[in-house]
Amino acid sequence: MTNIILLGPPGAGKGTQARRLVEERGLVQLSTGDMLREARDSGTPMGKRVAEVMARGDLVTDEIVIGLIEEKLKSEKARGFIFDGFPRTLAQADALNSLLNRAGQRIDAVIELRVDDEALIDRISGRYTCADCGEVYHDRTRPTKVPGVCDKCGSHDLRRRADDNAESLRQRLMEYYKKTSPLIGYYYALGDLFVVDGLASIEDVAKAIDNVLDQALAG
Ligand code: AMP
Repeated sequence: MTNIILLGPPGAGKGTQARRLVEERGLVQLSTGDMLREARDSGTPMGKRVAEVMARGDLVTDEIVIGLIEEKLKSEKARGFIFDGFPRTLAQADALNSLLNRAGQRIDAVIELRVDDEALIDRISGRYTCADCGEVYHDRTRPTKVPGVCDKCGSHDLRRRADDNAESLRQRLMEYYKKTSPLIGYYYALGDLFVVDGLASIEDVAKAIDNVLDQALAG
């Protein structure tokens, strides 16, 4: 089993890199953001409860996201998991450790995608995603080849996230610095942290992650 955490602020490239690792390493991506958006869009009671919190850019309660992850770890059979956007608090990190311990597993590497805040604002304000296959694009740096059509699956359903606006981005950054960034120290102390330059091109970040994984999995 290979279990990886991708850590970094919104717009750091976690989702893009997680999708590549799914394709290339046969791992399963566990994105609590995707799970919550799915619950919100299908209008489940939990989805209704979290919709406003997400729109504001606040974190959803630990209880809800830990519950989602616990369920997936039980139901998904995989060679390993990429945790994307989870954990985001120390309580979530502790919960993940116990869930994995109980299953006789561990985290192999925590990869921090390090970027500066100016770049995040630019990345997020230009971001759009294919609603059908999840491919991520950017107006300036990575537009679809044919305008309005997904390169990967041909869908015309390209969407911008409701929370990708200046106001909720500011709040998401605040939540990141207050609650999530302490995890960098936490995983450093555990000896699991690897830092990758998230400002490099998608391909170069991918290469850096591959190097980290080769190193982490060999050790
Ligand atoms: P993301 O797609 O990872 O940027 O997540 C979108 C939104 O979902 C966040 O701004 C939070 O409101 C919520 N969310 C996603 N993952 C978590 C988490 N691990 N803990 C708390 N809230 C989360």
